[in-house]
Amino acid sequence: MNITLAEQSKINSVDFENLPFGSVFTDHMLVCDFKEGAWQKPMIQPYQPFMIDPSAKVFHYGQAIFEGMKAYKDANGAVWMFRPEENWKRFNHSAERLAMPEVPEHIFMDGLKTLLTIDKNWVKAGNGNSLYIRPFMIAIGSGVIANPSTQYRFMIILSPAKSYYAGEVKVIIAQHYSRAANGGIGAAKAAGNYAGQFYPTKLAHEKGFQQVIWTDDATHTKLEEAGTMNVFFRIGDTLITAPTSERILDGVTRKSILTLAEHLGIATEVRSITVKELIEAHQNNQLKEIFGAGTAAVINPISGFSYDDVYYELPKLESSTALQLKQKLTDIQYKKSEDPFHWTVKVCD
Ligand SMILES: *Cc1c(COP(=O)(O)O)cnc(C)c1O
Repeated sequence: MNITLAEQSKINSVDFENLPFGSVFTDHMLVCDFKEGAWQKPMIQPYQPFMIDPSAKVFHYGQAIFEGMKAYKDANGAVWMFRPEENWKRFNHSAERLAMPEVPEHIFMDGLKTLLTIDKNWVKAGNGNSLYIRPFMIAIGSGVIANPSTQYRFMIILSPAKSYYAGEVKVIIAQHYSRAANGGIGAAKAAGNYAGQFYPTKLAHEKGFQQVIWTDDATHTKLEEAGTMNVFFRIGDTLITAPTSERILDGVTRKSILTLAEHLGIATEVRSITVKELIEAHQNNQLKEIFGAGTAAVINPISGFSYDDVYYELPKLESSTALQLKQKLTDIQYKKSEDPFHWTVKVCD
């Protein structure tokens, strides 16, 4: 690996108490190019802009994928990651689906560990503090002919984050737009999936809602994801989430919550859940909670939903399963409790 360190750290110019999510980046980044059928030597460089040709395929045909992960600091100052293998594997599934080359484990994982070790001062200790990790890959080969690029750039950038709480989240259940379709790229963490979500989400904002709950594209009757998170419903004492499919992103937070819930004796069901069932459960006072699950916010409770222009408010709970699970999960991530599933991986002391 080629390492060029920044002459001066910019860490002292950063106000760690007021960090808008994902807008400040650390001193260094990882860059590794793919050309002539092979991955080149990874490089760690000072964080900086770079040049690519205006005809690069990423701009025209959207060959772009990414991951989202976090690093945490424990009470002894050691830096940890949470299930990073899962992100590496998912990254390569996304790569395959977009006809991009897979990134070998030594480039992804060793590159990430080296980068995190160099920028470890940017991982702040304390509850809610973390370093958000954004690995991504873009097609940099030039030419506006519509075929897969032969050149790619894999990068990792890092952004310090405070605990992310989106406030009260009210959602609209999608009845027209879709995030993903059978046979499509919904199960890949592809940049284009997000571009397609912005417009329907903007319409939801205009109506006073923060997010959209996506339904299956064919019938718009099955509840699938909440914005850019997986979604859970608590009906009675059972936690329900949709099975992963071609339309659903296989979230690391989602599967960790399922494992953790079972471990805690909370009943879980992985099955399709329909809008009809949701509204009936609400009418019978059995619908207790809805929450989104994803790396950025871990768990984000949803306070109500709209369907057919009717708004259904959820009960305000003294102690919610969402917050209980969030506490348990973050305790594991911050090494405050046992890690019975061996999810955490040490980066450095
Ligand atoms: C990233 C993402 C999630 C959450 O995945 P995590 O691995 O838990 O962060 C859920 N849905 C979509 C569409 C996503 O892009």
